[in-house]
Amino acid sequence: MFCADINKIIPFSSVDGPGNRAAIFLQGCNFNCRYCHNPETRNHCINCMDCVPGCPTNALKNNNGKVEFYPEKCIGCDNCINICKYGATPRIVRLTSRETFEKICENLPFIRGVTFSGGECMLYPDFMREVFSLCKEKNLGTLIDSNGSVDFKKHLGLLEVTDGVMLDIKAYDFDEHIKVTDKGNDIVLKNALFLAERGKLFEIRTVIVPELFDFRKTVDDISRILSPYLERSNIRYKLISYRENGVRKEYRNYRMPNEKELNEAKDIAVKNGFNDIVLI
Ligand code: SF4
Ligand code: SF4
Repeated sequence: MFCADINKIIPFSSVDGPGNRAAIFLQGCNFNCRYCHNPETRNHCINCMDCVPGCPTNALKNNNGKVEFYPEKCIGCDNCINICKYGATPRIVRLTSRETFEKICENLPFIRGVTFSGGECMLYPDFMREVFSLCKEKNLGTLIDSNGSVDFKKHLGLLEVTDGVMLDIKAYDFDEHIKVTDKGNDIVLKNALFLAERGKLFEIRTVIVPELFDFRKTVDDISRILSPYLERSNIRYKLISYRENGVRKEYRNYRMPNEKELNEAKDIAVKNGFNDIVLI
């Protein structure tokens, strides 16, 4: 049975896929997106202990050099994640796939599906495969929210029990993608085509940051390469306005796109054949 480091479980979410869903955020990410709005999910705790004295309720303890978290004492003040300089959090729970499924089942009558997010949840493919296999026995929908950095072709067993993938495509141009995330995008684009070919590309997402990359070119290129697959199955294109909430201080100075720019992006996707477009 596989385990994962779980940052949080939202028992009912209406923004992580269709309907009411359990949303599970796994810890750790291999990109460094400038506009990441939950930067504390990026890295694993290195037990430096800086955050322990900052906890007002003693929910954190130094246990022989390892930070220990007592969830029942936590008031969610976020002092610890604000103190942490490593893009980590001490509020991690390590669960097996069975334990995770049991947590999901606590709200079974109220949800129609489960979404894995992060961090980058594809860093835990075997764990997700086990959880989703159990979910399918209960007829729950299964979605993955991914940055596309892990080759889906190597995880066909996981795809068999996954209804669809919500894929971030941060920028189409390789160098611009590095500028946004510190990493190239060869595998992201390969994944987009591979998933579209198999009818598993539920949604693509691009965060529009006008000063960071050429969003018009990105939306144009992405919607053009995916348009041949639209006849086979619907692909939603979610165009997300940059917002500074939760973003690290050093990256809060970008400006938000204005309405005209967002509509321009939408019109480009429409011109290339997309008709399910969400602006947020
Ligand atoms: S969020 Fe919880 S663990 Fe972190 S400092 Fe506040 S009370 Fe302590
Ligand atoms: S969460 Fe961050 S500050 Fe707290 S012990 Fe871990 S690395 Fe140090």
